[in-house]
Amino acid sequence: MRTSSSISGLLLVLLLSFSGRTFVSGGFDFPFEDVNQAWRGFLNLSGCHKGENVTGLDAVKKYFQQFGYLTNGDDSDEFDDDLEKALQIYQTNFDLNITGSLDNETLQQLVKPRCGVGDIINGTSSMKYGRRLAAVGHSVAHYSFFPGRPSWPRQASLTYAFSLSNQPFTAEQLRPIIVRSFARWEAATTLKFSEVSDYSSANLRIAFFRGDHGDGEPFDGPLGTLAHAFSPENGRLHFDAAENWVIDVAGLSAAGTVDLESVMVHEIGHLLGLGHSSVRESVMFPTLLTGTKKVDLHSDDVQGIQLLYGGNPRGNVSTPSQQSERSSDASSLFWSPLLSCFTIILSIIFLSFPL
Ligand SMILES: [Zn+2]
Ligand SMILES: [Zn+2]
Repeated sequence: MRTSSSISGLLLVLLLSFSGRTFVSGGFDFPFEDVNQAWRGFLNLSGCHKGENVTGLDAVKKYFQQFGYLTNGDDSDEFDDDLEKALQIYQTNFDLNITGSLDNETLQQLVKPRCGVGDIINGTSSMKYGRRLAAVGHSVAHYSFFPGRPSWPRQASLTYAFSLSNQPFTAEQLRPIIVRSFARWEAATTLKFSEVSDYSSANLRIAFFRGDHGDGEPFDGPLGTLAHAFSPENGRLHFDAAENWVIDVAGLSAAGTVDLESVMVHEIGHLLGLGHSSVRESVMFPTLLTGTKKVDLHSDDVQGIQLLYGGNPRGNVSTPSQQSERSSDASSLFWSPLLSCFTIILSIIFLSFPL
C-alpha cells in the first residue's frame, strides 16, 4: 500500500512538471516561479523551530523586520525567542495555527506576493494581534489604522494624478482602472476624488518605480512586495515596475501576472488611512495571489473606512457581505480538477494491482 501511494505521488509530481510550471513540494499549492527570488530560500526551512541554528534564518529575520514583526536588528541564523514570538504574532494576524515554528502552512503564507506596507508599524500592532477586537453585529471586525489614526478631513475633495514613467500602459489604459478604484472608496465614504494634470500639486500621486527609488522602501523585483502607499496626508502610492502587471481579465491567465486594479484598490485604502486587515476576503488583507482579482470592498473594509470618514451621504453605501475574490488563474482552474482526476485514477490502478 505504501509503495503504491509512493508511486502515485511520484507520477503526480511528474505530471505537475509536465504542466510547464514547477510546483513547490511539501504541501504547497502554488508554482515556485510565483515566489520572489529573495524569499525562495524560506522554503528550505520547513519545520525549523526555536533552538535551531540553520543557514537562511537570517533572511527570515530580515523579512520580519521589513514588515514590523522584529525590531531588534538581529540578523543571525539563530532561531531565538524573538523569532518565535514574531512567528506567533504573524500566525495570529494571518489566522494560522499558532505554532511559533516555520511550518508549511506559515511558509506558504510568508512567500505569497504582498503589499510592502508593514503589518506592524512603529511597534504598534494592528491587524488581529494585540488589538481589542471590535464586535460588529455577529461578526468580528479586523480592519486597522495607522498609528495615531491619521486621516484626511471628512468630506474632503481630494485630487489625484498619475505618472506614465516606468510602466507599459498608456494614460487611456490606466485612467479607467484608477477611476474605478477611487469610485469604490468614494461610494462608501464622504470623500470625493478627481483627476488633475499637475502631478506635483495633487493630493494623491500614483507612480511606478524599480528597486531603490529614494523613499527608503526599495522594491524587490518580480513578486515579493508589489506596491506600497503612505498614510494621510502624505499621498504617495508606488507600484513596483518590475511586476508583470495586467489590466484585463484575459491577461490574468498568464503565469506570474498581478492584477493592477486589485492592488490599486488596496493601496488607495492605505492612502486614506486604513492599515492591513486579518480578514482574508477583505481588500486590505496584505497578500494577493498571482492571477487573481479582488476589487470589491468587503464589509470589513467598509466598516473601517466609515469609522474614519462616515458613510456616503448620497445613500449609495456599498456594504457587500460577500467577498469577491475570484481566482482567475486559468492554469490552476484547469489543472486542479484535471490533476485530481489523474490522482484518483492512478490510485485506483495501483490499489487494484498491488506491487
Ligand atoms: Zn497594504
Ligand atoms: Zn516608494
